Amino acid sequence: MAAVEITQLTKRFGDSVALHPTDLAVEDGEFLVLVGPSGCGKSTLLRMIAGLEEPTSGRITIGGRDVTDAAPSDRGVAMVFQSYALYPQMTVAQNIAFPLKVARVAKREITDRVAAVAAMLDLGELLDRRPRALSGGQRQRVSIARAVVRNPRVLLLDEPLSNLDTALRARMRHEFARLHQQLGSTMIYVTHDQLEAMTLANRIVVMSEGRIEQVGAPLDVYRRPASLAVAAAIGSPGMNLLPVTIVAASDEGATVRLPDGGTVHAAVRVPDGAIGAAATLGVRPEHLSPADDGPFAGAVELFERLGPLSFAHLGAQGAIGTIVAQLPGERAVTLGETLRFAVAAADTHLFGADGRAYPL
Ligand code: ATP
Repeated sequence: MAAVEITQLTKRFGDSVALHPTDLAVEDGEFLVLVGPSGCGKSTLLRMIAGLEEPTSGRITIGGRDVTDAAPSDRGVAMVFQSYALYPQMTVAQNIAFPLKVARVAKREITDRVAAVAAMLDLGELLDRRPRALSGGQRQRVSIARAVVRNPRVLLLDEPLSNLDTALRARMRHEFARLHQQLGSTMIYVTHDQLEAMTLANRIVVMSEGRIEQVGAPLDVYRRPASLAVAAAIGSPGMNLLPVTIVAASDEGATVRLPDGGTVHAAVRVPDGAIGAAATLGVRPEHLSPADDGPFAGAVELFERLGPLSFAHLGAQGAIGTIVAQLPGERAVTLGETLRFAVAAADTHLFGADGRAYPL
């Protein structure tokens, strides 16, 4: 068993709080991805699980055993870093063998296990090379091999692909998915990358300012962000956010007024007392559809063609930033042209003054 349980874990650096009291249960064999803006506490949480950072308070158990005060080497965890952290003077084989040597594993077994993980990570041909003679992707595969060679119960990965180019990242994403299937170990993975989070995770944990904002399956978090912080963190390009006033509410939903006076129907439940209150309307770029009488309008300030689809950025009165709308790839657009869009009530999100989403 290698479930990881975190109870009321906190971390302070002097006066600043990197992690507020946090509870989190990671299931045995789960691929959990931590996402959130820079400085939100992802790495600090991961490093405390690894034993590289001492918690200010709270407890960590791994496989049912309390490891809060255990040494990093005594937790059954291994960590893969963004920087690879390979030993430059050692060959690939020696780098991979190193944790086994430290653990005084018999020579014969070391040879066998190094060969097995090298084969799994396609490093068989490179075992005699030194790190400087490897590409970035090869180095990262060596650092992964070194982490998994001890059969850790929990594998911790801190932005492992962020130094690689786009094509290599895509390949390594597949490698991680395969590795997770083969090893069956619990994986906790920190990333900024939306694609990595959406494609690799069993569950995503969205963090903001030292707190967990939401935990859920990637698509659930994408479809129903629980707060403005989650809405801003998940989705690329991000969700459009507009300051609105709630003008009506019924069993079918709420009506809100946009900064330029237009109204939008949102399929959410708001209490009668919220009528007249300020709120934030959220609409994803892919949910805006061209409509001559649509409430969202603006002049095209920027137009991006991605091939299969395009994004139009509209200068819109009162919007937080521009309004971004997704269009079919073949659609012709000229800069300065005014476009209008509508949204279905079911595709809207409405956040109260406290930043929490109104429920469906
Ligand atoms: P990034 O995505 O940029 O790596 P993160 O979400 O991983 O960010 P952390 O590295 O966990 O964020 O940092 C959380 C907060 O704790 C930040 O405000 C950071 O400045 C602070 N912090 C981290 N390590 C230390 C330290 N050793 N001393 C003081 N403050 C620290």
